Amino acid sequence: MSRTVYVNGDYLPEQEAKISVFDRGFLMADGVYEVTSVLGGRLIDFAGHCARLARSLGELEIRNPHSNDEWLAIHRELVARNGVEDGLVYLQVTRGNPGDRDFAFPPTDTPPTVVLFTQSKPGMAEAPAAKAGWKVISVPDIRWGRRDIKTVQLLYPSMAKMAAKAAGADDAWLVEDGCVTEGSSNNAYIVKGGRIITRALSNDILHGITRAAVLRLAAEAQMEVEERNFTIAEAQGADEAFITSASAFVMPVVEVDGAPVGSGQVGPVATRLREIYIDEMRKKAV
Ligand code: PMP
Repeated sequence: MSRTVYVNGDYLPEQEAKISVFDRGFLMADGVYEVTSVLGGRLIDFAGHCARLARSLGELEIRNPHSNDEWLAIHRELVARNGVEDGLVYLQVTRGNPGDRDFAFPPTDTPPTVVLFTQSKPGMAEAPAAKAGWKVISVPDIRWGRRDIKTVQLLYPSMAKMAAKAAGADDAWLVEDGCVTEGSSNNAYIVKGGRIITRALSNDILHGITRAAVLRLAAEAQMEVEERNFTIAEAQGADEAFITSASAFVMPVVEVDGAPVGSGQVGPVATRLREIYIDEMRKKAV
C-alpha cells in the first residue's frame, strides 16, 4: 500500500516524492530528524520532540521552517491521511539544496528541505520483545563529539546494529573510556539495589525525550535515580537493565555480552516503568 508522505509543503504518494541530488542531507548528512510515536492515532510526547528539533536545528544554524503549531498540524494530517493507529512519524529537516556540491554552507536564505513520513506498527505498545527482553553486545563508541544533536549521520549506529545482529543479539551498547554512553538508538540504564542508574546528559549522548519522561515518572513513583557513568561489568552484575527510546518505549535488557543480567529474565523495575510510561503518555497524547 502506498503511503502519503510530506515533502516541502506537499502531501504526495511516496512514489512521487522527490529530493534534489544536491540536497545537503543526501551529500553531507547535513540534517536532523525526529521520531514521534503514535498510539491510538495520537502523538506521544509531541512537545518534547518539537523542543529537541528546535535545539538540534539551532545548534547547526539551520532555520526552523515551522512553528510548533504548524509541525503539529503536519504530523496530524499525515497520521490521518495514512490511517495510522499505532506507529511512528519520521521527520527530517536538512540544510536544503544549494544547487551544487560545496563544503561551505549555502546562503542562509536557502530553504531547508522538510520530509515527513509515517510507519504503521499495529500493536506497538504490546511488543512481544518487551516480555522476552533484549540481548545486547558492546562495541566501541567511535561516533563524533556532538551526539546531543540528532543528526542523520546514522552509519555507525547502523553498523553497530549489524554487529549485534551478526552476534545473535538485538542491539549494541556503545562504550567509550570504559563506560557505556548509550545504545545504538536508545538510552541505556541499569538497576542495582532498586536504584536506576543512567549516564548524565552531556554532548556524549542524545538527550532522549523518553529518558526525560521516564526519569520524571520514576521520581514521581518514589524510585531512586542516579545519573552517572557505568561499565559493562557493572551492567553484567546489575539486577536489571533496560533501554528507552520513542519507538521501543522502555525495553528490558536481559543479557550483556553473553552474560545474564540478574536472573536473566525481565525484571520488575523495567516492567513497571514500561507500564507507567505507556499509561501516562497515552493520557497526554495529542
Ligand atoms: N540515543 C540515540 C543515539 C538515539 O538514536 C535515540 C533515538 N533516536 C535515543 C537515544 C532515544 O531518544 P528518544 O527517547 O528521544 O527516542
